[in-house]
Amino acid sequence: MTHAILIVDDDLAIKESVEEYLKLLSYEVKSAQNAAEAIEILKTFDADVVLTDIMMQGMDGLELTKLIKGEHDVDVMVMTGYSADYSYEEAIKAGASDFIFKPFRFEELDLRIKRVLRETAFKKERAKLLAEMEQLAITDALTNLHNSRQFFHQIKLEIKRSSRYDRPLSLLILDIDFFKSYNDTWGHLEGDKVLMGIGRIINSCMRSMDTAYRYGGEEFAIILPETGLKKACVVGARIKDSIAREVFTPDKGISKSVTVSIGASELQDNEDFTAFIKRTDKALYKSKETGRNKLTYS
Ligand code: GH3
Ligand code: MG
Ligand code: MG
Repeated sequence: MTHAILIVDDDLAIKESVEEYLKLLSYEVKSAQNAAEAIEILKTFDADVVLTDIMMQGMDGLELTKLIKGEHDVDVMVMTGYSADYSYEEAIKAGASDFIFKPFRFEELDLRIKRVLRETAFKKERAKLLAEMEQLAITDALTNLHNSRQFFHQIKLEIKRSSRYDRPLSLLILDIDFFKSYNDTWGHLEGDKVLMGIGRIINSCMRSMDTAYRYGGEEFAIILPETGLKKACVVGARIKDSIAREVFTPDKGISKSVTVSIGASELQDNEDFTAFIKRTDKALYKSKETGRNKLTYS
C-alpha cells in the first residue's frame, strides 16, 4: 500500500531533496512552502503523514500541527533545526507523532515515518477490534437485535433522559403466542427462524430513534423515546399486524403464521425501570389472557 506524505518547509533545498528521496521510496509525495499552502493541499490530498518544519514565515509548524490535527485524521511529524527554541514536549502537546532534528539522514527519516505509520495502523486496528467487541457484547447473535443486557442499560438511560427533559417515553414488550407448540411441532431450528423473522420485521417497523431488543428467549422489547402512549400503540399495532401477515415455511409445502401479544405503556412520573417494565409486562399478560394476537396498554 502506498502511503501519502505532505512535506511543508520554506527551505526549498530541504523540501526538494526530501521530496525526491521519499518519491524514490515509492511514497506518494506532495510539498508546500508554507502553512497556508499545506492547508489548501490537504483539502484534496489524503495524506497519511504531514512532515513539517517548525520555523516558517507566517503560521509556524506547531500552529499548523494543531490546526491539522483538529481537522484531519493524519499523523504530523515536525522537523526542526532549532533544538533550543522548541522542545519535544511542545511538539507532542501540539499533536505531533514524532520530532526530528535537522540535519537528519534520509534513512532515519524513512524509518521514523514507517514507525509512525505502523503505530497508527496498530491503533486503528485495535480501535476497530474494540468497537467490534463492544458491538458483539450488546448484540443478540440470533436476531441481530440488541440483547437484554443492553436493554437494561438503555432503559435506565432513557428514563433518566425522559425525566430530566420532561419528555415522553414509551415501551413495548412482545411475546410470541403458543411458541412452545410451534417448537414442539416443527423443531427448535424452525422456531429459531421465526425468531429471526420477527427480529427482521420489528426492525423494519421501527422509527429511527426506536431501539429493539431480544429481551428473553421469545420476548422482544422496543424502547420508544420521545413517544407518547398513543403513538407507541400505533407502532406496536404495525409490528403485530406485520408479524401476523408473515408466512413461515417450517416444512416443504407447509405455510404457517405466528402471532404475538403486546404490552404497551408510557413512563409515569417518578417511575423507575423495574416498575415501568412490570407495568408493561402486566399489559402483555392481559393481552394473553384476553385472547392473544392483541395489544394492551397500561
Ligand atoms: P404463550 O402464548 O402463553 O406465550 O405460549 P408459549 O408457548 O409461547 O409460552 P411458553 O412460555 O410456554 O413457551 C415459550 C417457548 O419459547 C418455550 C421455548 O421453547 C421457546 N423458546 C425460548 N427461547 C427460544 C429460542 O431461542 N429458540 C426457540 N426455537 N425457542 C425458544
Ligand atoms: Mg414467554
Ligand atoms: Mg410465548
